[in-house]
Amino acid sequence: MISAQRHGAFPAIKSLNPNPIFHNNFFQTQNATFFAVITDINFSYNMSVTKLIKCVILDLDGTLLNTDGIVCNVLKISLGKYGKEWDGRETLKIVGKTPFEAASAVVEDYGLPCSPVEFVSELSPLFSQQWCNIKALPGANRLIKHLKSNGVPMALASNSPKESIDAKISFHDGWKDSFSVIIGGDEVRTGKPSPDIFFEAARRLRMEPSSCLVIEDSLPGVTAGKAAEMKVVVVPSLPKQSHLYTAADEVINSLFDLQLEKWGLPPFADWVERTLPIDPWYIGGPVIKGFGRGSKVLGIPTANLSTKDCPDLLAQYPSGVYFGWAGLSTRGIFKMVMSIGWNPYFSNKEKTIEPWLLHEFTEDFYGEELRLVIVGYIRPEFNFPSLESLIAKIHEDRRVAERALDLPLYSSYKNNSHLRIS
Ligand SMILES: [Mg+2]
Repeated sequence: MISAQRHGAFPAIKSLNPNPIFHNNFFQTQNATFFAVITDINFSYNMSVTKLIKCVILDLDGTLLNTDGIVCNVLKISLGKYGKEWDGRETLKIVGKTPFEAASAVVEDYGLPCSPVEFVSELSPLFSQQWCNIKALPGANRLIKHLKSNGVPMALASNSPKESIDAKISFHDGWKDSFSVIIGGDEVRTGKPSPDIFFEAARRLRMEPSSCLVIEDSLPGVTAGKAAEMKVVVVPSLPKQSHLYTAADEVINSLFDLQLEKWGLPPFADWVERTLPIDPWYIGGPVIKGFGRGSKVLGIPTANLSTKDCPDLLAQYPSGVYFGWAGLSTRGIFKMVMSIGWNPYFSNKEKTIEPWLLHEFTEDFYGEELRLVIVGYIRPEFNFPSLESLIAKIHEDRRVAERALDLPLYSSYKNNSHLRIS
């Protein structure tokens, strides 16, 4: 079985559901279960323990790299050859697994007339062709640079074969040199959820397991980290499955929300007046009618964009509250605060993006071209005990965004050509 794992480049993956049921509403956009996990988590950290954290062990696929789309595309093509249609039903079975384990699940569930080893061999060249297209997840480059510049030793520990890891990270500047240790699932007897790979990473880092903080996205990864008696922060791949991650020491919504000081590590120093600058994100399209809840329930009208034109882009960004500048073709350029996400309470069917243009408009402008430059992040989504508290938080977000957008750091984007629609 171990040798079979070595055949493949089938990556350890994040969420593969091609049709995720996202639920969203403007700002009241939080998976209640996830919120419960965040708020109720037994946060078993204490200062005496966290001061012992000296290094960080990172997972790759789904934690630092957005491997989802690539895996979906490859599986769609491969299953199509067998007359099957990838429907994502094995998502939970293959997230964070070794290539052989993941392939075994797909072969069995779809009744493919081949062995898992053969299936891995079929997929490997298809994946290899796609490594150059895998993007870093939001916050990944920031995290790696921060830890490196602060002299915090880092290891990369993935269930993927070492050769695949090296190939994937070669497309990301500075990553390879940032890790003191890079270890693949083919270098240990048993992959995650066994703790072997984390024990080996700690050994090569010359650290005690108790000195290691693991950052993971999958259940096997969390299980492995805890079995190694390490502290584990999880950024769940599968938002609607967040209740499964309660073994972790902390559950966070995205790498943007990582607070290293909780673990006795050097804190990020790039937050500015309660906002986190991000690499600008440019989107646009005609304004569509939303759910009508923004105006009717919250008293906050949003200028919604269709997500059909940018599903891949949208999927890359964590749910949360962002801000930036909005350009309307006939009305000018305005400050903007927005949500990305979903909410089971409203049973929305897809992840949405709902910008609130911070200006008093006297009429609707459905169909008008809207351009957005998103320049910063404010907070993760979370639930609220009452409509009043939700509305109060939205207005607080508005104040944070309005103030921040006056800073030169963000105000310069007001002149960006993307916003000027001819
Ligand atoms: Mg992973």
